[in-house]
This record gives sequence, structure tokens and C-alpha cells, in this order.
Amino acid sequence: MTDMDALAGRLSDRLGPRGIIREPALLERYLSEQRGRYESVAPFVARPATADEVAETVFICAEARCAVIPQGGNTGLVGGAVVTRDRPGILLSLERLRHVREIDTVGDTMTVEAGCILADIQEAAREHDRLFPLSLGAEGSCQIGGNLSTNAGGTNVLRYGNARDLVLGLEVVLADGRIWHGLRKLRKDNTGYDLKQLFLGSEGTLGIITAATLRLFPLPRQRATAIAAVRDVPAALALLGLTRARAGGALTGFEYIAGPALEMVLAHVPGTRAPLAERHAHYVLIELASEDAETSLRERLENILGDAFEREFVTDAALAQSETQSEQFWRLRETIPEAQKPEGASIKHDISVPIDRIDTFIREALERAAALAPGVRPVVFGHLGDGNIHFNLSQPVGAVTADFLARWDEVNEAIDAIAVGLGGSFSAEHGVGLTKRRALDRHKSELEIELMGRLKAALDPAGLLNPGKIFD
Ligand code: FAD
Repeated sequence: MTDMDALAGRLSDRLGPRGIIREPALLERYLSEQRGRYESVAPFVARPATADEVAETVFICAEARCAVIPQGGNTGLVGGAVVTRDRPGILLSLERLRHVREIDTVGDTMTVEAGCILADIQEAAREHDRLFPLSLGAEGSCQIGGNLSTNAGGTNVLRYGNARDLVLGLEVVLADGRIWHGLRKLRKDNTGYDLKQLFLGSEGTLGIITAATLRLFPLPRQRATAIAAVRDVPAALALLGLTRARAGGALTGFEYIAGPALEMVLAHVPGTRAPLAERHAHYVLIELASEDAETSLRERLENILGDAFEREFVTDAALAQSETQSEQFWRLRETIPEAQKPEGASIKHDISVPIDRIDTFIREALERAAALAPGVRPVVFGHLGDGNIHFNLSQPVGAVTADFLARWDEVNEAIDAIAVGLGGSFSAEHGVGLTKRRALDRHKSELEIELMGRLKAALDPAGLLNPGKIFD
């Protein structure tokens, strides 16, 4: 058993007074967990300020045989940055690694430290007339290290890909405290295994990311945003096909919002207004963006919607007339999870299926949910263009919250099984963490789990990096 006081003393000597947090009141924000599903029990948080200090922290912990649980902005939704009682350890926060080390506008790359807040990275790129396209609801507090460790998605995946697709190089502290200096800027490098890919999306179980070299893109000069009411989900998919064919690379976002999800936003989020004169059962939010300021994107989107109207995919639509209106439309989409809160508890799913199976998934999942939990209120929305649906279920009116939440695993199991049965995934964006470990056991093949276990054993033989996350 590790002597935590002795370990804290050693780390404090090395990291200085700002390097360790032990006071309960200050610890609280590191121990809280987004969905309130897990109790986190770290005795202290180590806060190294440089990659070398991260390496020394990991080395000292490895000597003391103490597990290290990396934490970024703590916005993850699957309990990945939690310290559990059965796997004791310390939290290692990357929040002091905040430097933008380089912005290269010739090669269009930027090298940033893991603790940089995503919104600050976007802003730094913008100041150099470039776009870093990763964008998600938590961007004001999540950190790039956390984004890369979870292979975050968000609203621009359709055009720019997931976090994984935006990385050229990584710097990583390994389980034994050595640093892998892989901060390459190369677009082409076929020299053996692509090691960075192992760490991207591995949720802190294989190494601790301390810095990354990211890809930058031209800054869009104009965007056009619309909300359209569509006849049904197949019509939404037909509209997706039409928009892709007509707008090509300019299509950056294609989000689905079911009628009840929009109703909750309008009921609970101050300052929101219905985008269309009448209420509908299905909506999509479409965004086009382009670095070309000449040809009007708004006109192009208007033509696409006109065509879709004639083909009867779309029954009504509103095109944002200003940047402010564009923001208002996005707010309707982004505040759905917040709008669910006053309606009571919600059982959530973050699935993906091949795009041509989305309609089947939604129909089967709605039927199954109604049979499993009569009166449950589905709140369905998500990144339709990526096949990623957030299938949330708000508790029935008048239900006892604890009783409803007690069914979380059972309901997840049924809904995940539908997605996986359609060739999909039980976790499209948020990762596995603690929440989806059982789903991983259920849905990954024995061979896949064995291969993942072998990688873990090779890179972290003593099992000290974020133990118990993803798998045991
Ligand atoms: P944390 O929560 O601190 O950690 C997440 C995991 O990464 C943990 O396992 C942790 O141990 C590990 N980790 C953190 N930093 C490092 C590091 N430097 N090295 C190694 N491991 C590390 N996610 C999406 O993908 N798309 C969305 O659209 C989206 N929207 C969201 C909206 C809201 C309102 C909220 C609250 C969350 C949303 N998320 C979304 C989930 C979350 O924001 C992402 O998973 C994000 O990438 C987590 O980053 P973080 O810095 O908060 O990481």
C-alpha cells in the first residue's frame, strides 16, 4: 500500500507549492464528475507545469507503485478521469501546461501543450488567420489533451474529421516516466507503426499526452446556416445527400433535432425562439462554410432548400440572415442537454450507425424504449451527417428519479444492442471510461479485447495509468 503522505511530500518537493493540491475545498472541482454518477476519491492532485515535471511525477509514482489518473478539463461524460476506491491513485492535472509552443503559418500547424483550453486554441489559430476546426459544447473548459485522449468529435467532423484526424505529432509521457518526443509536423511519414494513433483515443490508459502538433486550415470567410423542418428521418437523409452533392466540401454541419428536443429547449432555455412559424416533428440544422468570400453560400443553401422543398423532403425552412441568427440556431442545438435537466433524469446514449441505418435505428430504439420504460420521453438529436445520434431518454412525468436511473444499464444494453446489431458502435464520441466498460465486454470480440489487453500490457506493464478505465 502506497504511503500517500510520503508520496505527496516527495512530489511537493519536486513540483513546488503550486504543484500539489490537498485542501478538500480546492480538491472538489477535480473530484466532481459531470453526470454525478461516480464518487472520485483522490487524496491529492498533482499539477506539474512542464512535460519534464509530468515525467518526473509519473516516475516518482511508478516507484511508489501508485496509479496515476490524468485529468484535463474534467468535462468527459463517461467517468474517465475519476479515481475509484477499488483502484486507488492520484489525479494528475495537465492544467498548468498551457503554452502554445509554435504556430507555423507556412506548414499550417500549431504545437500546443496538453492543458490548453480548446477555445483558446481556436482563438490563437484565428489570430493567425487560421482555423482549428475541433468544436464542441464543452470547448470553453475542455483541454486539448483530453480531446485527443478521447478522440473527441463535435460539430465539424463532417468536413474536418475527429480529433484523431487533426493531429500530426504528439509528445507523450510513458508509464515508466520516459518522454516520447513525437512532435513531428510531417504530412507524410511512412516509417513503421504510427505510434501516435495508439495514444489518441486511449483515455489516458497508455500514456499521458503533454503536447501535440495540430493541423490548421484556412479560416472560413463566410457561412450560411439554416434550420429546416423535414418530413421524416429518411427525408433528412435525402436532404443530406442532396446537400453533399450540391455543396460538396462546403458542408460542415448537418445536425438532427427531433421535435420534442426542440420543445424542451424552447421551454427551458431563456432567450430561445421557435425558428419556424409552425412546430414540426423533425428538424435539421445545416451549415455551409467557405474560405471563398465571393460566391454567396446563402444563395447556394437557399437553392438547395428550394429544391428539397419541391422534392418534398423539406416542409419549411429558415435561413439565418445574420451572424447573430446563425448563433441563435446553433444555440437551439447545443442547449438540448441543458434543457433536459429541468425535466428530470435522463438515460443517455451516444451511438453511431452507418448513415443508411439511422432511420431503422431510431425507429427500433423508440419502440424498444417505450416497451422497456412506458411513458419515457425520448430526446433524439445529434450529428446526423456522421451517423452519430444522442438517443437520450428523459424520465416519465411523475416517475421516481432513483427508480428510473436504476434502469440505466438495462436500457443502455437494449439500445446499444440495436446500434451494434445494425453495424454501429455503442460509443461514437465520448469513449468508454467507466460507464461503458460492460458494453465493451459485450460488444467487442474476444480477439479485439485480447489485442487491446496486449497493447496495455506492453505500454503499461504495472497497470498504473488510469487503471480500470476502458477495461479491467
Ligand atoms: P477529461 O474529462 O478531463 O478526461 C477525459 C479522459 O481523457 C479521461 O480518461 C482522462 O484520464 C483522459 N485524459 C485527459 N487529459 C489527458 C492527457 N493529457 N493525456 C492522457 N489522458 C488524458 N465530446 C465529444 O466528443 N463531442 C461533443 O460534441 C461533446 N460535447 C460535449 C458537450 C458538453 C456540454 C460536455 C460537458 C461534454 C461534451 N463532450 C463532447 C465530452 C467531453 O467534452 C469530451 O470528451 C472532451 O474531449 C474531454 O476533454 P477534457 O479535457 O474535459 O478531458
